[in-house]
Amino acid sequence: MKGFAMLKIGETGWIEKDRPKCGPRDAIVRPTCLAPCTSDVHTVWEGAIGDRHNMILGHEAVGIVDEVGTEVKDFKPGDRVIVPAITPDWDSEAVQRGFPSQTGGACGGWKYSNFKDGVFGEFFHVNLADNNLAHLPEGMSQEAAVMITDMMSTGFMGAENAGIELGSTVAVLGIGAVGLCGIAGAKLRGAGRIFAVGTRPVSVEVAKKYGATDIISYRDGDTAEQILDATDGEGVDAVIISGGGPDILIDACKMAKAGSKISNNNYFGKGEGEKDTLPLCRVGWGFGMADKDIITGLCPGGRVRMERLADLITYGRMDPELLVTHKFKGFDKIEEALLLMKEKPRDLIKPVVLL
Ligand code: NDP
Ligand code: ZN
Repeated sequence: MKGFAMLKIGETGWIEKDRPKCGPRDAIVRPTCLAPCTSDVHTVWEGAIGDRHNMILGHEAVGIVDEVGTEVKDFKPGDRVIVPAITPDWDSEAVQRGFPSQTGGACGGWKYSNFKDGVFGEFFHVNLADNNLAHLPEGMSQEAAVMITDMMSTGFMGAENAGIELGSTVAVLGIGAVGLCGIAGAKLRGAGRIFAVGTRPVSVEVAKKYGATDIISYRDGDTAEQILDATDGEGVDAVIISGGGPDILIDACKMAKAGSKISNNNYFGKGEGEKDTLPLCRVGWGFGMADKDIITGLCPGGRVRMERLADLITYGRMDPELLVTHKFKGFDKIEEALLLMKEKPRDLIKPVVLL
């Protein structure tokens, strides 16, 4: 079968691979709608997780079940399914401790396009199908559904980890698809004032629709100072980081109040390995003593998460189709869509490929 792959750091291309094999609790899915992710860009062109050879890319897919293993109960060939970007081993130790995304080591729930062939193939493998697939609800568009798999799950996690209370003031740093979902999540969790930081006009429009009350451009001066000015020097109760480079951590520390939470969604891309460091703001972080928590998270996956996020769409709480600015048709358009994600033109939030 054909797939679009990372050949090595900095290089992508089409490759031929064997169709994946289905274990007794697994499924093989044929994708019908795909989306590239900024994380694919970090992985390929920044070598963020190290070298990978001939690994099929992609982890955002909706599809049709092609084959199931003998022990799979709830899915059969022909079912239309949402496939989470993160497919944990639900019988593992990390799940019992409450961290399914981290099964089998740090970020181990993230298999597709990390250490296993991703979804940009004619077929792909799903481990533990009953736990890691969700039925596509009747009437839901594929474009909406594919936004659940990673963008909504990650963005909403950002809001969940930020400990937002009714009336909290929240800053969302970065308003690509992930940050925009962070805004929607912050609003649903009851935030009062929501600062959205970014410049792409197309994102700014959606940020307002999802609930942002103030728009800040990081190009108009120091972001933290702009937000401190706007809050009479007080700062914010919660920061959700969804964009920018390592220095964004300094901004976040500076604008966060004592007792706040800094919830990081970013995949910090470039680096050489274990000796890399990320900056914190010594003074802004109260010399390490300011009661400002930094919380990290990998996108939650699995069936229940997909079903719950789908309910947010079904019952009118969230319209993820606003994130989809570019639509392609045909398997061979995957490459173009991924390159668009790399280039980030000003009119782009998220491309999808319908197959
Ligand atoms: P985008 O590149 O589409 O968006 C990034 C946003 O950050 C843009 O709004 C951009 O502004 C803004 N930005 C850039 N520089 C700054 C700055 N200095 N200060 C404030 N904002 C800035 O990214 P995505 O939304 O697709 O993804 C966001 C991050 O989430 C990525 O690192 C991605 O890899 C990561 N990710 C993490 C996951 C997880 O499981 N934790 C899962 C999925 C993604 P502008 O409007 O000017 O372009
Ligand atoms: Zn992703």
